[in-house]
Amino acid sequence: MPGRNFLFIPGPTNVPERILNAMHISQEDMRAIDFPAFTIPLFQDVKKVFKSKDGQVFLFPASGTGGWEAGITNTLSPGDKVLASGFGHFSNLFIDLCQRHKLDVEALEVDWGEGVPVEKYAEILAKDTKHEIKAVLATQNETATGVTSDIPAVRRAMDAVKHPALLFVDGVSSIASIDFRMDEWGVDVAISGSQKGFMLPTGLAILCVSQKALAARKDAKCPRCFFDFEDMIKTNVNGYFPYTPATILLRGLRAAVDMLLEEGLENVFARHHRMAEAVRRAASAWGLKLVAKAPRWHSDTVSAIYVPEGFDGNEVVRHAYRRYNLALSVSLAKIAGKAFRIGHLGDLNELMVLTPITGAEMAMKDLGIPIELGSGVAAAQEYLRTTSKDVRVPA
Ligand SMILES: *Cc1c(COP(=O)(O)O)cnc(C)c1O
Repeated sequence: MPGRNFLFIPGPTNVPERILNAMHISQEDMRAIDFPAFTIPLFQDVKKVFKSKDGQVFLFPASGTGGWEAGITNTLSPGDKVLASGFGHFSNLFIDLCQRHKLDVEALEVDWGEGVPVEKYAEILAKDTKHEIKAVLATQNETATGVTSDIPAVRRAMDAVKHPALLFVDGVSSIASIDFRMDEWGVDVAISGSQKGFMLPTGLAILCVSQKALAARKDAKCPRCFFDFEDMIKTNVNGYFPYTPATILLRGLRAAVDMLLEEGLENVFARHHRMAEAVRRAASAWGLKLVAKAPRWHSDTVSAIYVPEGFDGNEVVRHAYRRYNLALSVSLAKIAGKAFRIGHLGDLNELMVLTPITGAEMAMKDLGIPIELGSGVAAAQEYLRTTSKDVRVPA
């Protein structure tokens, strides 16, 4: 099959050549005398991506789900009360993980298309004068629906009543793509993974943990072994790991962090916003609605787009893959078949983001969905063209 497969799912994302090349290396000794000269600056620089000075970074050989488990088990005990909200596949899975660890989860059900219900959080926290709630959970970007939540507002709700609970943020599909500020927002446990904004293959759970959350581990009784912060802290301080680290992924992470910091995080966020806006303009030109119910919920890393009633969004995905070698993303659970998703995060530029728009348009037309061929592409082109800047300057 000639030509390439176009990957536009919200993780794994495209791995840029520079990172691929950085990982195209021989295996190495993770106990070598010069390994810490590589790892210690890496820990420091990953922290910059979380915008943290005070926190500690943990790099586990795992996926994002492992990051959740590490965060929960190191800071909480069975029976601890946790405040959470579910509004999509991933926020619901986070709740499920807490329940399986025997936490007492107050899980607010929110309509899909909306995000963290900050006003409800504020009410519940205000009533919890005995401070029984030990942790507050917020999914910054719900990947299933393309909804971004207001994390600073969650912090304000906690501060307004001086609530001492830990603030957990699932930033797996937002950190390194959408504004995130660990220290400024008072986040205690921030969780990410390698295969989304970090532009790497799957295989690293990337966490940043506040000093307050680190102190909580002394009383945390959830069973843990593989994910124990204690073992990591003891060895990481000297630049080593308690077991075999994913050295190739760490080398890739070095390149990824270099790329993010060279571009500048604010530029990375602005670029993601433009890519997302192009997709939103296309959806609007097609006459289709986003799952995200209002602009305040719009995600800059993934858009879930409803197809008209009577059509199957997941058939759009299958057809685009079968016929055009394009990977769009299916809709899950409650909205399965009602929508399809376009991932627009990671290593992405203007002409790249036009590809899933073009392909989705062709696939929808093939399936009889009443859209005008070229309408979405033209709307995206016009937006991108008129907001574009030179990417190269003469020497
Ligand atoms: C992808 C994702 C996860 C799960 O990560 P895995 O790497 O698949 O374990 C969790 N939360 C969100 C918001 C995600 O997008």
